[in-house]
Amino acid sequence: MLDFMKSAPAKPEETAEKQSGAPEFKAIEALAAKALMLADAYQTPPIPKTYAVWYSYAAGVPEEVAAKINGMIEKSGSIGPYELDQVHQEYLLATEQDRKHQELLSRHLDREMAEIAKLVQGHLTSSENYSGSLKNTATSLDDRASPAQVRTAIQFLLSENAKMRSETVKLNESLTQTRAQVRKLRANLEKSREKEMRDSMTNLANRRYFETSLAREIAEARAHGSPMCLVIIDIDHFKRINDTHGHIVGDDVLRYFAAILMSNVKGRDLAARYGGEEFALILPETRIEQAHALCSHIMDQLEKSRLVLSEGKTPIGQLTASFGISQFCPDDTPEKLLTRADDKLYEAKNAGRNRIAR
Ligand code: GH3
Ligand code: MG
Ligand code: MG
Repeated sequence: MLDFMKSAPAKPEETAEKQSGAPEFKAIEALAAKALMLADAYQTPPIPKTYAVWYSYAAGVPEEVAAKINGMIEKSGSIGPYELDQVHQEYLLATEQDRKHQELLSRHLDREMAEIAKLVQGHLTSSENYSGSLKNTATSLDDRASPAQVRTAIQFLLSENAKMRSETVKLNESLTQTRAQVRKLRANLEKSREKEMRDSMTNLANRRYFETSLAREIAEARAHGSPMCLVIIDIDHFKRINDTHGHIVGDDVLRYFAAILMSNVKGRDLAARYGGEEFALILPETRIEQAHALCSHIMDQLEKSRLVLSEGKTPIGQLTASFGISQFCPDDTPEKLLTRADDKLYEAKNAGRNRIAR
């Protein structure tokens, strides 16, 4: 580990611009230099994404980035592009790009809603004008009105009515158009929110979505006294697949594995990519025996799969995974439930992999 990594990175309030006297540019330059040194020390590719993660690590903003990376380095002694990509997705992507996009969409929506309000207001004003003309005509027509006066009044009312009708038609057209616009914007907003919750490689729920769902399902289980299980799954010897066949094949295997998980969950169940080659299942309304049966079924499917390279049909070898299951207890927090599932996963790994521990 490099020297400056041993000490915790600066907290946001201690960073660059706040340091007394130091011009902001100098501080940013120092952070940039640190980020580049880190990229070099860990031999991570010099691309904007990895640079962004290292910069955020050096700056200590957001705080979780440094903690996450330190944890990863502690665990395996190094860190690679996949791990940095995961950190980027989890902590930086949503804050940069997607948030901006969502803000823009929200602003458009606000504008369209204001347009609708203006149209409705316009309609109310013309209705008021119309009822005003009705009232005026009624008062100007007393009992002594001549037939000619009545005819004039009726003609006037008819023309006012025609004006009103055409205004209503125009209003309806504009409203329909604006509503369609709003519907389109809403759909875009939803799509962008959905994208923020998915892991781009496997299309499963991402870590952030997983954490939100876990907290929600725990609250539900506690409130209703219903059973619930959490499964953490880790592909066995995945590094070998990468080492033997390359990372592109590794990525395909991850997508294949994700598809198997996806096809095994239904209703409120959630399949998530927990990180790298680790996955998680949140199983509400599920007892541990049922969770175990589901994992056995997934294991059977894996056993039956015969993965081969598309070129030359070389077999990739048997794909297996290890499973750790924990069942919700009334005083559980997400952390406690996760730790128990994690401990069980390591039990399964230590007992020889390709098995379920609960
Ligand atoms: P174990 O049975 O103990 O789980 O062994 P393992 O090889 O699966 O575990 P290890 O943690 O040693 O290696 C996991 C590897 O997964 C390391 C990392 O480079 C790779 N990896 C993580 N994310 C991705 C990814 O998105 N794509 C590819 N191709 N590889 C990834
Ligand atoms: Mg593994
Ligand atoms: Mg792993």
